[in-house]
Amino acid sequence: MSQTSHDDVVIIGAGIGGLALALALRQRGTEATVIERTSELREVGAAVGLSANAVKLLREYGVEDALAKVSWAPTDLIFRNGRTGETLGRTPVGLTYRERFGADWWGLHRADLQKVLSEAVGMDRILLSRNVTGLREEGDHVAVEMADGSRVTARVVVGADGARSTVRRWMLGHDDAVYSGRSGFRGIIRTEDLTELPDPHALQFWVGPTGHLLHYAMGGDGSHVNFLAVSREPQEWTEQGWVVPVEDSAKLAPFAGWHPAVTQMLEAVEVTQQWALMRRPPIRTWHRGRVVLLGDAAHAFVPHHGQGANQSIEDTWALAEELAAVHGRDPEPAFEAYTARRRARTRAVAFASAQVAEVLHLPDGPQAQARDALMGTQQWFEDRLAWVHAYDPRVDTGIRPGSLAPVSR
Ligand SMILES: Cc1cc2nc3c(=O)[nH]c(=O)nc-3n(C[C@H](O)[C@H](O)[C@H](O)COP(=O)(O)OP(=O)(O)OC[C@H]3O[C@@H](n4cnc5c(N)ncnc54)[C@H](O)[C@@H]3O)c2cc1C
Repeated sequence: MSQTSHDDVVIIGAGIGGLALALALRQRGTEATVIERTSELREVGAAVGLSANAVKLLREYGVEDALAKVSWAPTDLIFRNGRTGETLGRTPVGLTYRERFGADWWGLHRADLQKVLSEAVGMDRILLSRNVTGLREEGDHVAVEMADGSRVTARVVVGADGARSTVRRWMLGHDDAVYSGRSGFRGIIRTEDLTELPDPHALQFWVGPTGHLLHYAMGGDGSHVNFLAVSREPQEWTEQGWVVPVEDSAKLAPFAGWHPAVTQMLEAVEVTQQWALMRRPPIRTWHRGRVVLLGDAAHAFVPHHGQGANQSIEDTWALAEELAAVHGRDPEPAFEAYTARRRARTRAVAFASAQVAEVLHLPDGPQAQARDALMGTQQWFEDRLAWVHAYDPRVDTGIRPGSLAPVSR
């Protein structure tokens, strides 16, 4: 196939950020075309947590009610000792969370999120099975080249193509992914099968020196639990891919001797893949000419705060607003303003996310004891979580990073 078509705004990637951006742009009168390399929009077997800072925007985009039907709001945020099961901290986050932060905190299937977003965008705006291989700057437009030989030209191109972004590589001229020193397994289990699990409808962290287990209930009826088990293995990532096949037996090693609720959860699913948890170093400039980055392509970081998708959604508000302000003229000032609005916020969240693993994986000793004592306090919630969830990009309230200093070893 070798065709060229022309669009005003092209978004590369129909992931969470790309689809949300199409809705944000439409709100301000711009219809974008979204280009996606996969043939179907569904990520089977994966979940995502959305917090109030993003859900407020999804309300503006008209999809909150549809998402509420397929999402579960956790009852509490609980930290536990991974080996003994002792409760270290518990904060109720049901109604009180909504009242305080102005929207819900949800667990849902990624496939459900993509379905709601893509239906709202309209499948006629999404070109599937188009793998973008390169970009070419041609005067007052950019040509987006695809593996099937087709091309789309556009006045503005947004690289929302995720953590392994082709657009970012084009912009930087190299691949800058860094292994975070942690890897993960994930799975989804029926809640009723987790007979050892206390508080199955809470969002819980089980903490220890070799790793941690995070889980939350999801779906419209909370009938399933999604988990992410993170460990300090391996020290270096020497594999080619970010996701590699593993033997099912490998999953229990970092959690040997942990509480039965943890081992039962891990044993309940067959684990076939291990994820390297990667991050991208911060970059000062998120744009080149008429091309700009959004979401993971701009600022991929480790998932320990459950904020990657939420930050992508926050980005959409600022970018759509800044693009609307230049009224179709040269987009560079809009890109500058957007980056200036988003850079400090995403860096603070990225830093805090990396810090979570350091704090949760402290070796046994006085530092871990001090952490355990803090986890039960309101100060812990305020310093580590409230400032992330309270942020509202609509009013640019600014950041309150709280206690960002790592607990020293
Ligand atoms: C284990 C794990 C758990 C996580 N849990 C959470 C969580 O609970 N909450 C949260 O907020 N975040 C979470 N994240 C992070 C979150 O998944 C990402 O930050 C989020 O998906 C980023 O959205 P995005 O739109 O930038 O990219 P993506 O959602 O990754 O979308 C990118 C899209 O671009 C497409 N694409 C890529 N390359 C091309 C190409 N060349 N041509 C055309 N299309 C292309 C891809 O197919 C994809 O559809 C987690 C991440 C991991 C690894």
